[in-house]
Amino acid sequence: MSDCKRVYRFGTDAQGTRVTEGDKSMNFVLGGKGANLAEMSRIGLPVPGGFTITCQTCVEYSGAGNVWPEGALDEIVAAEADLEARCGKKLGDASDPLLVSVRSGAPFSMPGMMDTVLNLGLNDDSVQGLIAQTQNPRFAWDSYRRFIQMFSNVVMGVDADLFENALTQARLVAGVRVDSELSAEDLQELVETFKGIFSENVDAALYPELEVADGKPVFPHDPELQLRLAIQAVFGSWMNERACIYRKQHGISDDLGTAVNVQAMAFGNKGETSATGVAFTRNPADGTKEFYGDFLVNAQGEDVVAGIRNTEPIADLKTTPGLESAGEELERVFLTLEDHYRDMCDIEFTIEQGKLWMLQTRVGKRTATAALRIAIEMVEEGLITREEAVSRIDPAQLDQLLHPQFDASKKYEALASGLNASPGAAVGEVVFSSDDAVARANEGHKVILVRWETNPDDLKGMVAAEGILTSHGGKTSHAAVIARGMGTPCVCGVERFHIDAAEKVVRIEGSERVLHEGDVISIDGTQGIVVDGAVDLASAELTGDLDTILSWADEIRLDETCGHANHVRVNADNPEDAELALEFGAEAIGLCRTEHMFLGDRKNIIQSFILSDDETVKQQALADLLKVQTEDFLAMFKTMSGRDVVVRLLDPPLHEFLDDPRELEVAITKKEAAGANEEELAALRTRLRRIDGMVESNPMLGLRGVRLSVVFSDLPLMQVRAVATAAARLIKEGVDPRPEIMVPLVSITAEHVQIREVIERVIAEVSDEEGVELNIPVGTMLELPRACMVADEIAHYADFFCFGTNDLTQTTFGFSRDDAEAKFIPLYMHKKILKDNPFETIDTAVLELVRMAVEKGRATNPDMHFGVCGEHGGDPKSIKGLFNVADVDYVSCSPYRVPLARLAAAQAKLEAKRSA
Ligand code: ADP
Ligand code: MG
Ligand code: MG
Repeated sequence: MSDCKRVYRFGTDAQGTRVTEGDKSMNFVLGGKGANLAEMSRIGLPVPGGFTITCQTCVEYSGAGNVWPEGALDEIVAAEADLEARCGKKLGDASDPLLVSVRSGAPFSMPGMMDTVLNLGLNDDSVQGLIAQTQNPRFAWDSYRRFIQMFSNVVMGVDADLFENALTQARLVAGVRVDSELSAEDLQELVETFKGIFSENVDAALYPELEVADGKPVFPHDPELQLRLAIQAVFGSWMNERACIYRKQHGISDDLGTAVNVQAMAFGNKGETSATGVAFTRNPADGTKEFYGDFLVNAQGEDVVAGIRNTEPIADLKTTPGLESAGEELERVFLTLEDHYRDMCDIEFTIEQGKLWMLQTRVGKRTATAALRIAIEMVEEGLITREEAVSRIDPAQLDQLLHPQFDASKKYEALASGLNASPGAAVGEVVFSSDDAVARANEGHKVILVRWETNPDDLKGMVAAEGILTSHGGKTSHAAVIARGMGTPCVCGVERFHIDAAEKVVRIEGSERVLHEGDVISIDGTQGIVVDGAVDLASAELTGDLDTILSWADEIRLDETCGHANHVRVNADNPEDAELALEFGAEAIGLCRTEHMFLGDRKNIIQSFILSDDETVKQQALADLLKVQTEDFLAMFKTMSGRDVVVRLLDPPLHEFLDDPRELEVAITKKEAAGANEEELAALRTRLRRIDGMVESNPMLGLRGVRLSVVFSDLPLMQVRAVATAAARLIKEGVDPRPEIMVPLVSITAEHVQIREVIERVIAEVSDEEGVELNIPVGTMLELPRACMVADEIAHYADFFCFGTNDLTQTTFGFSRDDAEAKFIPLYMHKKILKDNPFETIDTAVLELVRMAVEKGRATNPDMHFGVCGEHGGDPKSIKGLFNVADVDYVSCSPYRVPLARLAAAQAKLEAKRSA
């Protein structure tokens, strides 16, 4: 390790000679700031001279328990001497001193890292040099006192208030209102006071290198020591608590380390021909092509952002007396940077006595709206290709455009937080039941449905509500999945909410506030927070730019000259969702969950089928269901004419359609107390007994999926008949219905084989009855590890495979998806047992099962097609793996995720092309 280069030089010297040892590709060596300083210097922009100490040095220093790696200090001292030579000035010099800034800079921009120290190198001698050079004693003493303040606070951790108090005291003594009215003498005195504060508050034991007088540490005068302490502090800040928390939240590795940039100071505060500013090469809020930013005359460093004085718009720079030529040059720099980075850049600059110096640049952050505008305009300008434009947009950011959000410019305080289960924000009155939700919504109120957890019974309430909040359940709980599907904002697992649905109150742990029915709350499902009262919302915008980018994405992902097309389908089970999804660009329906068709007023029918003993009642129920299901399918297939609709046979455990036995028990007790007649009570008790009889210990592993079809074969017969009948009738009307039937939760080949026989028999019957030839493919939903293992065998009997990756994740890990996210997955992520939540981003082992099953399936039956219809189908990271690693043909996701999936699918294609 010791033979690797630790220090890289950059920048322009007094004679205009450039030195550059790094470039922008070296992010992981020089950090973002250092790599871009090197790059700007490399392409001839004016950058004050300096050097960057590598991230690896930080890693070794921290790793060894804050001990310098061998030779590192020597290299730094040599670089420092070299910088002095390049600048023709010396640190600490009493006639013309070199002053430097010490700036941290990690590979990713990161709050929590040490702040920049400016004007390092000032001491009692060099302050005289600064006076001599500037003929401005006030400026020099002010710089010196600022440096002591910054150094003590940032490097040594002394409380900043101590200095601020002393400053206030000095103003009082001098009888002035603002700092700028303090005289050179006042400031010189303040320097002594500040040194005193340093001595009183720094622990000498922690800094053995400091000189000691009267038992107290002395402010370091040796610039080399100042520099070393500052660099050590930057390294130390890499492991401080705030930085560690930030990295954890953003999945950034602790092993990267931070670089340190040491750079000659440029003075923006040397009078009216000096200035400092920040700018963007385009408008980062809406993407307009204009120079955007602010500057301040006669100011240094953070003064611009600190808002002490009013700033001037960047457009005025070139008409400000004394700054004209620097202003012109800055505009040329903007163009050079855009040309070079081929992207919008953000910039920090300083003008010292009419001379422009660049202090920082990077590719600028922007809103989703701006990202689209900029990408499209850059294609039109010929700066980038369509492919680059498509690969630059962050799919996750698109969500910003499709849902309303809390207005970021307004302040609010969270009442509680939970999981950000479904994006978007909503404001409404608290209601505790679906019936109340519907009733209030019908009266024209906006409501938020607040439940312990939702179940299929809540669907009508969920539809009526603006937003959904649950105190239990994770990101793939019923509430979350359904809410995402409907595009309704949802916050799940708000554990501090103790909901009493009977009393209609919420008690909030750690808060006095008690919420009652009708109280207004706001939820933000993008951030996962709940706020008391109404928060202003910023509404969703669907601009033409989004359409443009997505149409380019489609060209790319559907291109078959390199691998197969990456298709995007939607999970939808009603014609409205299907229509919305078509607008969003879905190509077909990848998953139509038929159980949603059994809810609402149809629940009675399915209940009488399940609970009755009487064969005629049962048959009547089936006939009724057949009628309504046929109508459902007629509507769906018509909307989706010419496009595949994958219909999944009934999947959930049947008790989901029945009353909650606990609630029924309570109802019976109440009726008993009220003296209801025996006949009614007997009927209710029988009903309760039957429902109890259906309760399973592990319903997720129980009588569901294909097992239902085996046990209650009438149900799938009815469903298949409905599908086939609807298709046959539409064909006769000249519509082009394309249903496909999918058998869920298969694990054994024989399950599939037997059900398929039944399915085909029904299709043939309907074909005969209706006098129409029907060709309805039958496929398997692969969502159990065993099915993946025997996929080659199942493939003999299946026309397609579609992977249900929610269940596959649940059964691969043995994690209950209803509980795991609330109970332990966050802790697992915190402890780094898991990197991602496997229910959000597909796990490598689950992905491997999918890959293997696709390979096995294709080996048996090359004509099969493969899809994914779990939640992962709408997750950008998972989408790339599913297409490029598992090699599926399509992903299917909820309607609001379709635009994002189209973009991610295109990016997957581009990645595959690049590595081909
Ligand atoms: P941040 O990462 O917070 O932007 P910077 O290192 O960029 O921190 O520095 C903070 C401020 O100090 C910025 O306004 C920057 O322009 C200014 N600054 C840093 N180095 C110098 C320098 N060598 N000369 C003049 N100003 C500087
Ligand atoms: Mg900066
Ligand atoms: Mg499933």
